[in-house]
Amino acid sequence: MIMFGACPRCGGAVIDRARAMEDSPLCITCGWRRTDLSLEIRTEVEAHLGEKFIDNRYQHRLIGKGKAPLSGWERVKRQRELERQQLLRSTG
Ligand SMILES: [Zn+2]
Repeated sequence: MIMFGACPRCGGAVIDRARAMEDSPLCITCGWRRTDLSLEIRTEVEAHLGEKFIDNRYQHRLIGKGKAPLSGWERVKRQRELERQQLLRSTG
């Protein structure tokens, strides 16, 4: 869906994409993105979209997994800890 004249920067045509809005420019003319929106407009948009998105996707995912996966650094630290313990054990 394209909204003509909806770009706040240049007044060009803006592609209304609810999903892939992070990397793709929404304004055809100047490349303006949704993230450039003023706080006022953004909160207005979130009032329409935000609740559903957050409730259904993010919270569901968090609850479903239960435990957050370890980050890369956490994994390295844990691995080093294991190796140190094995070393201590083998050397006595
Ligand atoms: Zn524009």
